[in-house]
Amino acid sequence: MNLRKKIKEHKRLFVVAGPCSVESQEQVENIAKSLSDNGKTSLLRGGIWKPRTRPNSFEGVGAIGLPWLVEAGKKYNLPVTTEVANIQHVESALKAGVDVLWIGARTTANPFAVQEIADALKGTSIPVMVKNPINPDLNLWIGAIERLQKSGITDLVAIHRGFSVYNHPKYRNSPNWEIPIAFMEKMADIPIICDPSHICGNRKDLQHVAQKSLDLNFEGVMIETHNSPDKAWSDAQQQITPSDLEKLLNGLVLRETVIKEEELDFIELQRRKITEIDDQVFELLKERMKIADKIGDYKRENGIVILQAEHWKKTLSKYLSHSKESGLSEVFIHALLDAIHQESINHQNAVMNKS
Ligand code: PEP
Ligand code: MN
Repeated sequence: MNLRKKIKEHKRLFVVAGPCSVESQEQVENIAKSLSDNGKTSLLRGGIWKPRTRPNSFEGVGAIGLPWLVEAGKKYNLPVTTEVANIQHVESALKAGVDVLWIGARTTANPFAVQEIADALKGTSIPVMVKNPINPDLNLWIGAIERLQKSGITDLVAIHRGFSVYNHPKYRNSPNWEIPIAFMEKMADIPIICDPSHICGNRKDLQHVAQKSLDLNFEGVMIETHNSPDKAWSDAQQQITPSDLEKLLNGLVLRETVIKEEELDFIELQRRKITEIDDQVFELLKERMKIADKIGDYKRENGIVILQAEHWKKTLSKYLSHSKESGLSEVFIHALLDAIHQESINHQNAVMNKS
C-alpha cells in the first residue's frame, strides 16, 4: 500500500486505531470489527512486541500474534501495522504480511537499532511510521528517517507521541509542540500524525490533545482503542472503546489550512501589529543587554561574581506572581526569563573575560 497517498486522500483526518497490545485472536478480531463498523479507521494498530520500561510486565504475545492481527485486518478490510525494534521483528512482520511498520520511541532514540532495521528493510517498499525519540531531540528523529531513506524506504510518516520527562504535572509524555513544528519545517515532505494516547497517558485529555494537533496541521491521529480498556494488558488507563473513539473523532473540528482572500485583510493587519511589537521587544532586549555589558564591566573592575542568585530569585518570583493577571502562563514566564537571564550572563561573561 502507499501510506502517504492514503493520508493525503484523507485530507487531515487519517485515523490509526487498535489496541496497545494484541492479546488474543478474539480480542483483535473484536476490536477490528467494531472499528470497521464505525468506519472511521484507516489503519489497524496492534503491538506484538512491547518495549516495557520495567521487567515483569506484559511484553507482548510475540510472533504468535502476527497472524491474529493480519487475519483480523483481512477479515474487516483494514490494513494493519505493528511496532518493530530489531531484525527478527522486521523479518517476522514482513513474512506475516503486515502492511505498515512503525518504529517506537525507544528505538528511534537508538541509532544502532534504527540502522539495523533500515538495513533489514533494504529492497522492500513497505511504509514505515517513525515515532519521535523519547528524548526531546529533533535531530535523532530526523536522523532515523534519513537512515531509512538511505536504505531506499520512501513511504515514510512521522508520529508525534511526546517526550519523557520526570514527573510531568499533566501528561505521561510532554508534548513539546515546538519540536514537531520544527520537524514540519525541516521535513516538509513527511506527513505527521499525532499519538495523543501516549502523550496523555489518560483518557480525559485525549480530545484536547487530538484537537490541538489538528489545529497545528497534523494530518491524522493514532489512538489506542480496546473493547475492554480497563482490562487491557498494557496501557489500560489511556485506551478507549471504539464507540468513545467515534465520539472523540466526531467532536474534532477540522479548520481551514489556508486563509481565504477576504480574511486576509484582518489577519494582515494583526500581523503588522504583532511585527511592530516584536520589533520593540528586540530593541528593548538589545538595550537590556547593553546594560548587562556595563554591569559586567563594573563587576570585573570590582571583583564581583556574575551570578547574583538572590536578586534573580526575586525577579523571577515578581513576574511569576503576576502570571494570572498578565494572561501569560507560568511555564512561559519562566522560560522567557530564563532565556533572558542566560543571555545576560553570557554578555557579562564575555565582558569579564575580555583581555
Ligand atoms: C505503542 O504505541 O504502544 C508504544 C509502545 O509507543 P511508544 O513507542 O510511543 O512508547
Ligand atoms: Mn501503548
